[in-house]
Amino acid sequence: WCILGIESSCDDTGAAVLRGDGKILGEALASQAGIHEQWGGVVPRLAQEGHKKAIDETVEEALRRAGLSAAELTGVAVTVGPGLGLCLEVGVRKALHIAAEYRLPLVRVHHMEAHMMVTRLPPSPLPEGFAAPDFPLITLLVSGGHNMAVLTRGVGQHIILGSTIDDSIGEAFDKTARVLGITQVPGGPHLERLAKDGDPKVHVLPRPLSKTRDKALMDGCDYSFSGLKTAVRTLVEKQLPSAKASALAEEDLHKAKADVAAAFQNVAVQHLCERASRAAGWAMELEPSTKWLVVAGGVAANKEVRKGLEEVAEEHSLQMRCPPPRLCVDNGVMVAWAGIERFLLGLYEEPPSKTGADNHVEIRPRWSLGERDPRSQQRFP
Ligand code: ATP
Ligand code: FE
Repeated sequence: WCILGIESSCDDTGAAVLRGDGKILGEALASQAGIHEQWGGVVPRLAQEGHKKAIDETVEEALRRAGLSAAELTGVAVTVGPGLGLCLEVGVRKALHIAAEYRLPLVRVHHMEAHMMVTRLPPSPLPEGFAAPDFPLITLLVSGGHNMAVLTRGVGQHIILGSTIDDSIGEAFDKTARVLGITQVPGGPHLERLAKDGDPKVHVLPRPLSKTRDKALMDGCDYSFSGLKTAVRTLVEKQLPSAKASALAEEDLHKAKADVAAAFQNVAVQHLCERASRAAGWAMELEPSTKWLVVAGGVAANKEVRKGLEEVAEEHSLQMRCPPPRLCVDNGVMVAWAGIERFLLGLYEEPPSKTGADNHVEIRPRWSLGERDPRSQQRFP
């Protein structure tokens, strides 16, 4: 048996067909790289247009690569949230149509759960001694839209230990990249590359939440990245003359930017790790048998992030697991796999009727992953 997964929550149109045991039979991804660059971020209307153009071909390509027709599928999984409503709609509509036409069960997938669950997908070929992270597990979700520490007891059973009160780390990477003159979107991976040429000790940037008067925030597992981002902007405005007006040689300007990038990345990773370590402590009070620290979402592709969290894992005697880099960012594979996990538990719906698929497209742009831990709940009434 096999499941088709469809992803369209942001700016990537993804589709994949996975066999029930997780073998990837076929996958396709249409990225909107280039489309949003002149705007400096994802523009929902343009993204929706991009999805509409790409969705049919992306799904067909995944099926073609799998050597299957839609009629041979067992079910359809689709991201219904969280994400941009205009974009989610395109994927969900497509999924509903396929499910209705071929009388297939429909699995509604939570985008962040998919980012997380893909670490449980058995790789192929299976490395000797491979173990999938089992429940309960702690996850750090670090992406463009989210920054959360989560205790997961099972599929759909999540407790949010901490999240960000302003920007996500991915957003902070992207905005800082722009301040440093990186024009590609998203800028995060380019900022990581730039930081490699820099010295993180040249500049001292403020540690987020280290001076807050809110005690719950100070001692909790929540995050804040906007102050750091602003501090970088101020530093750049003061210290880095614009390239044109500058007397600096290109090489020196590159080094100056790289130093700022390295300082930013260093403080961002420290903040991430300090709070992740506390979250691990909280999680293990609730579930002492926890053995895994899962790190997922686009920013899990960052080497310094991985290195820092590896130390956190070690400190708490946890094993760390990240998805392979290509599965860190949005893709259809993670949706198909999260769909399989849900399908196996009976968490699916009967096929929609054809008229239903036309009329009723239920999406959940703000779908919460779960309840907050009472220790931090006071911050989020
Ligand atoms: P969400 O999953 O929260 O809805 P999203 O789907 O837009 O948001 P992802 O696709 O998971 O987010 O991740 C994209 C983010 O990851 C971007 O902010 C991007 O800059 C960041 N990112 C990707 N690779 C790296 C890297 N190597 N270093 C830092 N940031 C990175
Ligand atoms: Fe994502």
